[in-house]
Amino acid sequence: MILPWLEQSFFQFTKRSLEGNLHHALLLSGPAGLGKQILAETLADVILCRQLTAQGACGHCQSCQLVKAGSHPDFYRLTSEKQLGVDKIREGIGKLNGTAQLSHNKVLVIPHADTMTEAASNALLKTLEEPTKNTFIILITNKKTALLPTILSRCEKHTFGLPSIAVTRHWLQEQGYDGVSDGYAKAYGYAPLIIRDSLSEADEGLSYDEFTQGLTGLKQGALSPSELASKWQDSALLVVSWLQAEAHHRYIGSQQDNDYQLCVRCQKAKKHLQHAGVNKIVILSGLLDVFSVN
Ligand SMILES: [Zn+2]
Repeated sequence: MILPWLEQSFFQFTKRSLEGNLHHALLLSGPAGLGKQILAETLADVILCRQLTAQGACGHCQSCQLVKAGSHPDFYRLTSEKQLGVDKIREGIGKLNGTAQLSHNKVLVIPHADTMTEAASNALLKTLEEPTKNTFIILITNKKTALLPTILSRCEKHTFGLPSIAVTRHWLQEQGYDGVSDGYAKAYGYAPLIIRDSLSEADEGLSYDEFTQGLTGLKQGALSPSELASKWQDSALLVVSWLQAEAHHRYIGSQQDNDYQLCVRCQKAKKHLQHAGVNKIVILSGLLDVFSVN
């Protein structure tokens, strides 16, 4: 899948790969939920394909078949729960240092590269400085500034922005999600993949429109916090996420301390809701009470 707003970059990378002048270390950065990981993986397919075309990987050579099966021996992805430690990086580098099993290219993808520890970064640095032949490393990050300057200086940097709301809406329509409102897109930071995931999760239960209608009713005094809380208790976590997004956007606009405190309160409520056996109505109505006067 090539996401429409990343298409141009994808074809440029593919062209360079065909011409044999793709940089050995690429850093893809930009906000979460725009599809950097998808771009990195499609690019890995391109690098590994044995019959590459200007349109991308051929889809049927031996390499492409192995990629599809998820068992390409020259493709590595380094994942970790929280931090990428030096052992993980060494393991990845160790694999890169061997001969490519299909005697072609090797690719290492590092999602959340900003979670590398300092030792891990230093271990990677050596490989970035003295790359092995036919080896490509693709780093992905939402927080470019969290990477060591030495790492940054060794990579070819590509920064991506979020697509426009019109492009996002059109793409969501193609995915079967019609009529996404501006407010809804805003609640998810206009990030297309995050919006899509939220829609697929929220297929049942409370809709965002019902949420905004309820919130308006609350502010106008037509509904009480406890009424709404009992109505929304089954979608409590979703409601708090939406309230938090609302508080966050308010704070960005106002820079007022009370809006900041509201964000913190939502965060705390989210944590409370994750404990089993909590009274969701009490947590929700407490929070909605604050929103009713704000
Ligand atoms: Zn192929």
